[in-house]
Amino acid sequence: MSLNFGREQLSIPGPSVMPDRVMAAMHRPSPNIYEGELIELTHSLFPDLKTVAQTKHNAAIYISNGHGAWEAAISNTCSRGDTILVLVTGRFGQGWAEMADQMGVNTKILDFGMDTDADPVAVVQMLKDDVDHSIKAVFTVQTDTASSVQNNIPNLRKAIDDAGHPALFFVDCIASLGCDRFEMDAWGVDVMVTGCQKGLMTPAGMSFVFFNDKAEAVREAADLKTPYWDWGPRANPEVYYQHFCGTAPTHHLYGLREALNILVHEEGIEAAWARHLTMSRAVWAAVEAWGCLELNIKDPAKRSQAVTTVLSSNDECGRLRHWCEHQAGLTLGIGLGLAEPGQKSWDNVMRIGHMGHVNPVMLMGALGTIDTGLKAMQVPHGSGALDAASAAIAGHFLG
Ligand SMILES: *Cc1c(COP(=O)(O)O)cnc(C)c1O
Repeated sequence: MSLNFGREQLSIPGPSVMPDRVMAAMHRPSPNIYEGELIELTHSLFPDLKTVAQTKHNAAIYISNGHGAWEAAISNTCSRGDTILVLVTGRFGQGWAEMADQMGVNTKILDFGMDTDADPVAVVQMLKDDVDHSIKAVFTVQTDTASSVQNNIPNLRKAIDDAGHPALFFVDCIASLGCDRFEMDAWGVDVMVTGCQKGLMTPAGMSFVFFNDKAEAVREAADLKTPYWDWGPRANPEVYYQHFCGTAPTHHLYGLREALNILVHEEGIEAAWARHLTMSRAVWAAVEAWGCLELNIKDPAKRSQAVTTVLSSNDECGRLRHWCEHQAGLTLGIGLGLAEPGQKSWDNVMRIGHMGHVNPVMLMGALGTIDTGLKAMQVPHGSGALDAASAAIAGHFLG
């Protein structure tokens, strides 16, 4: 008989867990969209979004998921026939490249596989070989949510500079913003895209593009720009409705306001990054102790603080996903990009999400549930996983 009668938890990794306060803020009648509170609330979001992104430059909000932000970034900067370089370290760089390709942009791909980060040496070489500077931009993800690798963004910026190449630098922070340290201006990122449903703890449906003046300077000539996706009026509108090219996503804005109150004004972004590192360490420690599961990214310095991809060899991952969801109320992530449904390996990959609104209660609950699943299914596993996880969390306070 199932024990799943209580609050369920989604750890898939995104959408992430929504704070009750965010949902409560959205539970209200529609506001006036022409004047008053909503307009002021909207204006208050931009400085806080820029704090999260660590930028002084521009931000545009879209009523879309992360794919919309991908398209917006391409559409505002590229023309048909332009060339870009995409660094692939999992499923998401590949997806962004496919979208650019479908929009008529030539995409060169450097694929580093599913278990390591993008190698700056290869990027320098590729850019040095591009003697006539035909590559307009280098695209990468910070955290690839499929492999759970974290790319070293400052090192990739340095690679572009070392090659003496003028390419713009685009980073997808959809999984990582608010979880992994990210400093747009200090790290020399020209365009950054993100969504609201992961580290920003708001129900799916809004995305953001941050861009600096170098990126803005190429917008005029970009022939893929269309009125709806144009970031110009969205970032610098003459009248309020231009922020959204139409009706504002009213309730999402209330939700996001509350999420930013929590993230920026109560916890603080530095503390949020530190919390995510601690939560990640607890997950890694537990997986290592179980022994029957394996971390996809071996080097801790290359691991995401938002999601952890886990491998097994005897279908443990698939069985755990099923058991945890149906018997205990914990939904774990499927193995994106590493295995396809129906393949043997499908049941040997899973992802544990630990992004956004996660405290030790929730994380230890998730790890305890996985531990329970292993025992209930009589899967041979090492002991001490929960001890190791709680020691990792205690380490947060012991320095
Ligand atoms: C989730 C995610 C996306 C896609 O976002 P959608 O909202 O599903 O369109 C893109 N890139 C990364 C790194 C992601 O984690």
